[in-house]
Amino acid sequence: MPSWSNWAGNQRSKPVRIERPSSETEVVEIVRRAVNEHLRIKVVGSGHSFTGIAVPDEVMIDLSQMNQVVNVDHIGGVITVQAGIVLSDLNAHLELHQLSMPNLGDVTYQTLAGAISTSTHGTGLQRTGLAAQIRAFKVVTASGEVLMCDPMHNAEIFHCGRVSLGALGVITEVTLNVVSAFNLRAVEQPMRISHVLDNFAQLIQENDFFEFYWVPHTKWALTKANNVSSDAIDSPGRFATWYNKMFMENYAFGLLCRVGRLFPKLIPKLATILPSSGRVEYVNVSHRIFSSKRLVKFYEMEYSIALDSLVPALREVMQMVEDRGFLISFPVEVRCTGSDDIPLSTSTGRRSAYIAVHMFKGCEYAEYFAAVETILRKHEGRPHWGKIHNLDASDISSLYPEYQRFIEVRNQLDPEGVFTNDYLRRVLGR
Ligand SMILES: Cc1cc2nc3c(=O)[nH]c(=O)nc-3n(C[C@H](O)[C@H](O)[C@H](O)COP(=O)(O)OP(=O)(O)OC[C@H]3O[C@@H](n4cnc5c(N)ncnc54)[C@H](O)[C@@H]3O)c2cc1C
Repeated sequence: MPSWSNWAGNQRSKPVRIERPSSETEVVEIVRRAVNEHLRIKVVGSGHSFTGIAVPDEVMIDLSQMNQVVNVDHIGGVITVQAGIVLSDLNAHLELHQLSMPNLGDVTYQTLAGAISTSTHGTGLQRTGLAAQIRAFKVVTASGEVLMCDPMHNAEIFHCGRVSLGALGVITEVTLNVVSAFNLRAVEQPMRISHVLDNFAQLIQENDFFEFYWVPHTKWALTKANNVSSDAIDSPGRFATWYNKMFMENYAFGLLCRVGRLFPKLIPKLATILPSSGRVEYVNVSHRIFSSKRLVKFYEMEYSIALDSLVPALREVMQMVEDRGFLISFPVEVRCTGSDDIPLSTSTGRRSAYIAVHMFKGCEYAEYFAAVETILRKHEGRPHWGKIHNLDASDISSLYPEYQRFIEVRNQLDPEGVFTNDYLRRVLGR
């Protein structure tokens, strides 16, 4: 029997079979056959979700062979791709055409369909998450029908289906807004956390893409300010890049985490090493700055809250970590985005800040995450669909003004729950 597990290794299953279609026609056949056999279907991307959202328990569809660029329209500023394309490959294609995604998260291992389906985002108040860039998509529904969805055709399905949690069918093709390629000037430096919080509104206004990581057990934050730049690429040499991005962020950090896992009492002392990294400044093509390699495995929970709640909410989290005596080796990440109008987007209807907490793989995370979750829920936090949380449909329905609108589209497209699994039953009620 085949087996599947996600990136973090905290979700596993043994699907009945794995299908690897190479065309939309094959996807339709696979869906029809599974429905005739009364088997449920789950499309799996790169398995980078920490929740059970992608767990396939009966028929698993892997779209890795549907990863081609279908069309590039320079004048319209759009690209059409097959939905299984991995973001790093999409970036490489765009670079060849001197185009770029307007924004990205901090890794590019995900498939495009997986990323949009969970409301994946980066940072930057003037930008949105990836799903808000969708101009059109094609979906194979439970009845085996192929629907082309855009604001003119199947408009309601388009409106709701841009963030679908994989619950509406198999997305086979996506058309996205893209922009002319641009460079970013990156400035990475430690700052006092008190300074960052006192000046947060200004930092996110005056930088195109600002994020920071508060280092628990210290008074420091590691900040990253990326700004669009017309300057030529000015990146440190290959060794310096390897040293900063691979050695320091992965190997040395991984070693600190391993020592901390063995000797938790050392964590506060080890944490003081992180802010000693110093200031780095460089210019590179945007996608090389937005995203980097992540070799250290972890578990993660991330909540979106209204932008204005960030400072009080983070102060509460910091106080709680101190009061409860949690020993945390992973920095707490803070990002922000503009709002969008997608019913299940974590930033629907409000400019958002995101607080993400992590725990090194193999360490106990449940109590820490639950304590942070209690704070963020008080701030009407919405959990990232692909990151660990404890909410269910009754909690979630009140957090999304257009939740019911999504449910109606789902009832129409998948009345029998062909595309459901345990996680979707929990957050969508069936
Ligand atoms: C190291 C790491 C870094 C991360 N960084 C970020 C970040 O910076 N920002 C952020 O927001 N998130 C981040 N995430 C979370 C990640 O972006 C999401 O969990 C994303 O969904 C993973 O994409 P995937 O291709 O692995 O999809 P999967 O996890 O495999 O699937 C996610 C969902 O998409 C559905 N799906 C996949 N393909 C299709 C399809 N063709 N049709 C219909 N449904 C489909 C699945 O059924 C499932 O419901 C990170 C995760 C990790 C592990």
